[in-house]
Amino acid sequence: MLAGVRPHPDAERDAEPDADPVADPDAAPDASGPAPGRAAGPSTGRASRAPFATAADAAAMAEALVEARAALLTGDVPVGAVVVGPGGEVLGRGRNRREADGDPTAHAEVVALREAARAVGEWRLERCTLVVTLEPCLMCAGAVVAARVPRLVLGAWDPKAGACGSQWDVVRDRRLHHRVEVVGGVREEESAAVLRAFFAEHRAAPTSPP
Ligand SMILES: [Zn+2]
Repeated sequence: MLAGVRPHPDAERDAEPDADPVADPDAAPDASGPAPGRAAGPSTGRASRAPFATAADAAAMAEALVEARAALLTGDVPVGAVVVGPGGEVLGRGRNRREADGDPTAHAEVVALREAARAVGEWRLERCTLVVTLEPCLMCAGAVVAARVPRLVLGAWDPKAGACGSQWDVVRDRRLHHRVEVVGGVREEESAAVLRAFFAEHRAAPTSPP
């Protein structure tokens, strides 16, 4: 599946991923080391999929994955998120709690953003990074913009409902004053595998008792 640097709508939609200039590792001055999320194999081209990811991003994604797996305990779709502050500290954690709370807005990103805002003491999260295992939906992409988060790191793309480069690109919409740097494909396989396992299980036993 195509992933990694999802072209901005203004970019060449049909560009080959490897021909995309932003996919050039040499164009990634912040990539200080081989983050685990980029180490799927030297010859697969996957290393070019997350050119701006850092080792810290991959570490934060590991924490988001812990949250995602915890969502399974309540029968929620396993998506997890953390908000990382400017010093690398985790300011907020969230997992999808839609089923747990009966709350249609309790997506992992919203939960994590709320906790981070409480920790910071204000709604602006202007120096933070949101790290989430799945590409945010329309609501969560809107929440990222509303919180003034400047940077988004995501694991798996969501071709059906993603709003950060897939179906929509809310976070980089030129009509908005605030725009977000998007780094995709960090620990992508792990992030997608958690979701695949969840949906495979639900398809296999849709009516089985708990
Ligand atoms: Zn969402």
